[in-house]
Amino acid sequence: MPKHWIPLTCGALAVFLVSCSVSGPKTAPSSSGRDVWGHRPGPKGFKTVILDAGHGGKDSGAVSRFTGQKEKDLTLDMVRRVRAELGGGFRVVMMRDDDTFVDLDDRVLRANRYGDAVLVSIHFNSGPSHVAGPETYYWRVDSHGLAVRCQQAMSAVSPEETANRGMVRRRLRLTRNPEIPCLLLECGYLSNPREAQLAANAGYRQKLAKAIAGAIRTQSAIGDAGTGPLPKPINAPPSRPTDAPE
Ligand SMILES: [Zn+2]
Repeated sequence: MPKHWIPLTCGALAVFLVSCSVSGPKTAPSSSGRDVWGHRPGPKGFKTVILDAGHGGKDSGAVSRFTGQKEKDLTLDMVRRVRAELGGGFRVVMMRDDDTFVDLDDRVLRANRYGDAVLVSIHFNSGPSHVAGPETYYWRVDSHGLAVRCQQAMSAVSPEETANRGMVRRRLRLTRNPEIPCLLLECGYLSNPREAQLAANAGYRQKLAKAIAGAIRTQSAIGDAGTGPLPKPINAPPSRPTDAPE
């Protein structure tokens, strides 16, 4: 309808002009932005970080039988620490900043409101009691570099006996469906007696948060440099609720 068409055009023009004046010709453009598939190198120069505290509200996530701690509380604590560690250099968006339930698909929709951003979802793991160590889940090619950095940073903090579970390329709703680079970090196993005690220690969580923030900062500064060859693109549809649990 013409009545609607004219204001929309003006709006689009205004957005164009604003973005030109904000970026300016001398500022290096970020290599982030929205992309449905993510078949591209990792981002560099991004200034927005979306931190997602896993679970929340009615969804406690894993509960440690050793410490009684709930995953939803630890993830919220972790994202707050990462936010503080990132300092003023980034615009940090919190997917939740209290004990509320947010559906996974809503988390994806919220993340997709931002173009030039990365999404980092933080979790703690659960499994057989002998299994321990941090893990990083990713899917998109443009998330590989940041995944390498985060996994290296977390395993450097993790004591040797809990080792390094490495990177897992898995199509989850929070690793495939966002249109921006995105990761899901498992900071350790609450089902392992030693790692549950570590997770219960605020000093250890602070070290992990500092490591994750450092990895994000490095990715923004130098992009994928030094993170090895990119994985092959995989054409797979968005993940559904019936896919592997997150
Ligand atoms: Zn979880």
